[in-house]
Amino acid sequence: MAKRSVRALDVAHKRVLVRVDFNVPLDNGRVSDDTRIREALPTIQYLIDQGAKTILCSHLGRPKGQVVESMRLTPVARRLTELLGRPVQMAPDCVGHEVEAAVALMQPGDVYLLENLRFHPEEEQNDPDFARQLAALADIYVNDAFGAAHRAHASTEGVAHLLPAACGFLMEKELRYLGEVRDHPQHSFLAIIGGAKVSDKIGVLQRLLEQVDRLLIGGGMANTFLLAQGRAMGASLVETDKVPVAQDLLRQFPQKLVLPSDLVVTQRIEADATFQVVEGNVPEGFAAVDIGEKTQGRFAQEIGVAKTIFWNGPMGVFEKPPFDRGTLAVANAVASSGATSIVGGGDSVSAVQRSGVADKITHISTGGGASLEFMEGRALPGVEALPDV
Ligand code: ADP
Ligand code: MG
Repeated sequence: MAKRSVRALDVAHKRVLVRVDFNVPLDNGRVSDDTRIREALPTIQYLIDQGAKTILCSHLGRPKGQVVESMRLTPVARRLTELLGRPVQMAPDCVGHEVEAAVALMQPGDVYLLENLRFHPEEEQNDPDFARQLAALADIYVNDAFGAAHRAHASTEGVAHLLPAACGFLMEKELRYLGEVRDHPQHSFLAIIGGAKVSDKIGVLQRLLEQVDRLLIGGGMANTFLLAQGRAMGASLVETDKVPVAQDLLRQFPQKLVLPSDLVVTQRIEADATFQVVEGNVPEGFAAVDIGEKTQGRFAQEIGVAKTIFWNGPMGVFEKPPFDRGTLAVANAVASSGATSIVGGGDSVSAVQRSGVADKITHISTGGGASLEFMEGRALPGVEALPDV
């Protein structure tokens, strides 16, 4: 069911509270990756153009309900000012008299950024009183924070029930692309799942296996499956307690699951460490850290014939070259395939961005955990709370 869009509301001269995902990495008081800020620009610019009074709110990091100086949103206000080419005023807090007084002075077209929502423990508790205080600042609520939609917090869930609500353009785009792939994928439908652990992704594996024609497994997660097949894995990252689950899935979906054949193994998981490639058992003291070239070739072949691709999780320890080769090979294969391609997951997205082929991917999701929960078929509280069209 589609959700009401901000386009459907009359926002002119109204105070519009917008939940954005400005949970960006900071380095020495500067925003070191502004992707999430850029992704929110279409909604913010639209509100400015419509003559709304735009009140932005977000969390940043995990301050656990107290003020943490290094987690203030001031660097975000600075970067947003540059990107918009107009001043963005930074609030001293996200609720309270001072903030209310500043909002009362706002003019149409003004942009005001509230301080980190998680400086208040009530945010994550979805406290009704805190939600009421946020709602009191505005006439309309817009949620554009897909990356936080899997959390039922005051700013993502509670407040949505207290004001006329709608989704922003980024939220809309995420729901459209991910919804299309989840509910109406064109076949042949291929999923590529990697990353560290099986335990993080069992739900999505099970759900995807029902729908896909093939599911390629790489990364640390493949190790547990290979162990389940009886391969020795040496010092590799494995989850022994997940071997039964892996065995179950292998039994249920023998045609669909494709595991790595050759593996890159090393004694030191460090950049530029020496390595070997093995096809059978991983020797004692060695850890599997990437898929080998044979596997890359096999995966590329599967990618080449797919019409729809969903990819989550790197194929190896891509942060430490040369163990990024498998992930880069998959990124290139996905980019040059003619398929509709969706990439989700924090590390997967940074890997794709590093590969230099990000512009050839149909949709790169901003929601790490949220995109996985969505693909799993779980209801996202931040989305559920918004009215249907
Ligand atoms: P995403 O954020 O895209 O969902 P994950 O967080 O599940 O991905 O996994 C990313 C992490 O998995 C990276 O830090 C990467 O180094 C690690 N990883 C991938 N392959 C391996 C491996 N073979 N052994 C250990 N860690 C791995
Ligand atoms: Mg991750």
